[in-house]
Amino acid sequence: MPLHRGPDAPDERPVSVNPFYGLANPAAGMTEAPPKHRLPDAPMPPSTAHQLVRDELMLDGNSRLNLATFVTTWMEPQAGILMAECRDKNMIDKDEYPRTAELERRCVAMLADLWNAPDPAAAVGCSTTGSSEACMLAGMALKRRWARRNADRYPGARPNLVMGVNVQVCWDKFCTFWEVEARQVPMEGDRFHLDPRAAAELCDENTIGVVGVLGSTFDGSYEPVAELCAALDALQERTGLDVPVHVDGASGGMIAPFLDEDLVWDFRLPRVASINTSGHKYGLVYPGVGWALWRDAEALPEELVFRVNYLGGDMPTFALNFSRPGAQVVAQYYTFLRLGREGYRAVQQSTRDVARSVADRVAALGDFRLLTRGDELPAFAFTTAEDVTAYDVFDVSRRLRERGWLVPAYTFPANREDLSVLRVVCRNGFSADLADLFVEDLTRLLPELRRQPGPLTRDRAAATGFHH
Ligand SMILES: *Cc1c(COP(=O)(O)O)cnc(C)c1O
Repeated sequence: MPLHRGPDAPDERPVSVNPFYGLANPAAGMTEAPPKHRLPDAPMPPSTAHQLVRDELMLDGNSRLNLATFVTTWMEPQAGILMAECRDKNMIDKDEYPRTAELERRCVAMLADLWNAPDPAAAVGCSTTGSSEACMLAGMALKRRWARRNADRYPGARPNLVMGVNVQVCWDKFCTFWEVEARQVPMEGDRFHLDPRAAAELCDENTIGVVGVLGSTFDGSYEPVAELCAALDALQERTGLDVPVHVDGASGGMIAPFLDEDLVWDFRLPRVASINTSGHKYGLVYPGVGWALWRDAEALPEELVFRVNYLGGDMPTFALNFSRPGAQVVAQYYTFLRLGREGYRAVQQSTRDVARSVADRVAALGDFRLLTRGDELPAFAFTTAEDVTAYDVFDVSRRLRERGWLVPAYTFPANREDLSVLRVVCRNGFSADLADLFVEDLTRLLPELRRQPGPLTRDRAAATGFHH
């Protein structure tokens, strides 16, 4: 959450109230306008409160036009009904809601099977609020395993985690919160994600693990997980260091199993200890669910596991939160049941088709150079062509906003700080028809952009920098 500060002007005008919002008598309904930053003194009728809140939300963007996020913005009405029916169920009350707990267990088993756990019965896993929590849990397991192996040196030695500089911010958080040194492989030339050999070179006796990302939020590319494991195998042969890999499959964990079956990135690789995904990204569920799985019980140290009441016995849990809604887990189970492998394949394929087609058409405009083509994650990054000097990616982002499209523009990290890109994320719900409208809008902007005397966006943050 943003860390909100108090109001700048405490005596700011109260919430304005349309006289119609009073009950039967417009004049008598509201005697006093409610303050903005203080709990109102008196209650108001539910219909009035409802209308006031709706009015406040009117200028929120249209989530379906948001091409900045990987997070699900459309589900079937049936899923919405199920979620409404389950919003009162607390995920942690396993004893009170044993069937919700059972659906969570089935989802973990399905994912273990989908990700080719050698023994699905031995795999352990849990739902989380999203990939960020899942990554914290996976990182904690890596750190604890390392601490156990190095009990003679830790505390004392400083643990580190190796990753590409392109990791999602949750890994910076993990390292800061849990006091682990982040060792990041920089970008180089046209390589915008982790290099396996460079990653292996950063490992030493204090490395708790290496993170491989499937795929990178910066450009939608898959990191070469199998090559990473091979480089770490070679490292082990040379030095004896046995470094486990965690795969951050926040997006790709629900794309690759359906569209890239030949790609070996999951538990088929013995070095992969754990995997996470965001149920609310290409798992196709509304925000609020992620998953973390470990290859076997050995990969998840027992002392990190807590137990809650469950039908007279106890159930092991691993989570940062205690209370959490059950609705998202139920919706995940619904979606697994509803789509099956074939359904997921169809949905993800049509999303990838849209991404590739939009990427091709953006490339055909001539003003842009593609970094990726939407053929890994259904997302692609592009920048302005070499000879384009009249405008930059920040201008494009700002101008697209006028038409309602949210397309982030941002600068790459080390060693490509010279490169700024736009990124389009395609999701189910961004249909081929909407994609046509997007390309039309972008095409229509170009003549004006080309006539600019030069890049105009002074305040780059005012363009959409948001991307995750
Ligand atoms: C989105 C994302 C995250 C964070 O996931 P949330 O579910 O938003 O917490 C972590 N890693 C990668 C690669 C991501 O794409």
